[in-house]
Amino acid sequence: MKKIIYFDNAATTNVTPKVLESMLPFYKDNFGNPSSIYSLGRDAYKAIDKAREDIAKCIGADKNEIYFTSGGSESDNWAIKGVAYTLAKTGKNHIITSKIEHHAVLHTVEALFKEGFEVTYLDVDSDGLVSPESLKNAIREDTALVSIIYANNEIGTIQDIDALAEVCKDRGVISHTDAVQAVGHVPINVKKQGIDLLSISGHKFHGPKGVGALYIKKGIKLGNLIEGGAQENGRRAGTENVAGIVGLSVALQDACDNMAKRNEQLIKMREVLIEELSKIDRSRLNGHRTKRLAGNVNMCFEGIEGESLLLMLDAAGICASSGSACTSGSLDPSHVLLAIGLPHEVAHGSLRLSLSDINTPEEVEYALSVIPSIVDKLRSMSPLWERIISKGK
Ligand SMILES: *Cc1c(COP(=O)(O)O)cnc(C)c1O
Repeated sequence: MKKIIYFDNAATTNVTPKVLESMLPFYKDNFGNPSSIYSLGRDAYKAIDKAREDIAKCIGADKNEIYFTSGGSESDNWAIKGVAYTLAKTGKNHIITSKIEHHAVLHTVEALFKEGFEVTYLDVDSDGLVSPESLKNAIREDTALVSIIYANNEIGTIQDIDALAEVCKDRGVISHTDAVQAVGHVPINVKKQGIDLLSISGHKFHGPKGVGALYIKKGIKLGNLIEGGAQENGRRAGTENVAGIVGLSVALQDACDNMAKRNEQLIKMREVLIEELSKIDRSRLNGHRTKRLAGNVNMCFEGIEGESLLLMLDAAGICASSGSACTSGSLDPSHVLLAIGLPHEVAHGSLRLSLSDINTPEEVEYALSVIPSIVDKLRSMSPLWERIISKGK
């Protein structure tokens, strides 16, 4: 079997053997319900309690500010709807977000808009950054919540969250950040950074899928999303995903303990990819040059379709991703690439390579030995490319 090179770690990551080992006992002998009073249940409860403490430490929170959820999407929904419905009762029904959010945030605020909430979508600059000044100008008397993505999943741009959170604090507005791509990848301290709500998902840092957490700063009033039993301090019902929660905490601790070393390796590989792929005629790097995730490369190649590039990369054994959303049944180019100012036809030809510590310089070398010739081949078949070169030069 041909070896698969996995360059799509922003979509999901593999569960490491260490994480899997930590989870298995809770599917086997330690299967108790954490709410039961006998020791089998209490052991499960203790495991969750320890996971909560370990996760809190990784992001500078208190243990009782960590609430387990089913993942990043649920955490985003809970944070946004929870604040919106609670503060709507006090007459605040304005929400501020950005144009480059993940759909878990965008579609949530769109749903609230349909219910009568007002929404402001902040522009970003050509690097994908939200300016604290524009946030300051957008805040109104009736603003309930500001939700800005910490690190963008497509272009990798890392926001100045501290400055954005400070603007919110000055104006007494609650701040949420979708930190799904940031947690375990950049140093985070919610207390020092002044963040009120922060979303976490396990499967973006070698934890299991279907489990995540929401950091809720003590004192923040937030309605419940899921009603039922008394789990998670009565704020999020449902028998806990014990194995998932343990896996989440082990993965996060591992990511935080090894962050500096891993990022150093990742940046080396990222820079080789960016430097070499930039040599391709009419290519461009998307996202901020330096304020970007260590493992993120996002390039546009004029005159080609991202989808065709992905299929040919797949045939060459490389898993990657494109900004255009053809795979999901629509031909719209990425809203993120449009928001940073790319024209439609350029945004269609995008390629995202997202690396993690499972990747090696040899894999980077191999990718670089195939990508330029695939781009050439696709361009040689592209009427669009013909038009571009006959117009240009
Ligand atoms: C993956 C991702 C999500 C969704 O997380 P799930 O755990 O898959 O629901 C939300 N936001 C960002 C930025 C992501 O990358």
